Amino acid sequence: MKTIGLIGGMSWESTAEYYRLLNEFTRDRLGGLHSARCVIYSVDFAEIEQLQVQGRWAEAGEILAAAARSLEAAGADMVLICTNTMHKVADVVGAAVSIPLLHLADATADAVRASGLRRVGLLGTAFTMEQDFYRGRLEAAGLDVRIPDADGRALVHQVIYEELCLGVVREESRTAYRKVIEDLVAAGADGIILGCTEIELLIGPGDSPVPVFPTARLHAEAAVAASLSGARDDIPATPASC
Ligand code: GLU
Repeated sequence: MKTIGLIGGMSWESTAEYYRLLNEFTRDRLGGLHSARCVIYSVDFAEIEQLQVQGRWAEAGEILAAAARSLEAAGADMVLICTNTMHKVADVVGAAVSIPLLHLADATADAVRASGLRRVGLLGTAFTMEQDFYRGRLEAAGLDVRIPDADGRALVHQVIYEELCLGVVREESRTAYRKVIEDLVAAGADGIILGCTEIELLIGPGDSPVPVFPTARLHAEAAVAASLSGARDDIPATPASC
């Protein structure tokens, strides 16, 4: 089993979800008391969020690159940036280490393509929805990506930073997100990417008339698959006995 390195804390609400999912997927695959070998470097999100707002992405990239180097030094065999938005600096982070970076947009595009869908709506922070670093990567993978209108984008962004990243889950926000999803479906989307790792704390399959693609879950699934594939020291599967 390879060791999964996580750059987390953005926010810790979704990093906690990653930790749970990595362990559940590993247990499901190997059985018994198996759990994920992982190292988490959790940053102070207030600092990162300020750098985002001020457009100081290079500095944010340096912080995440240093975190990646720490994970590699701690024995990680791969690194995950546990947020869609901060993939804006994925190249800097990937270049800082000699272990592979498992890109969240790639894990997402693979899952969408495997489902046979192509035309997807993308929900996420304004950075993720409006800039090219994430959408462009999905489009390069063959997806046709739609985003909400300006009001929809503002609502989705605000709920992420003012509620979900603070652990606040409100029914009114779920209803508002459902409306944004309905609009995307009416505009032709036949799947919805939950392209912010906190959105799946609010929205599930039952909130959408078309399939949803929860990015933290897909990223964690891809990491466990990488951790257990071609492992140097694979532990044989054991039957669940307790
Ligand atoms: N976790 C979020 C994402 O997946 C947003 C927080 C951030 O700005 O990193 O984009």
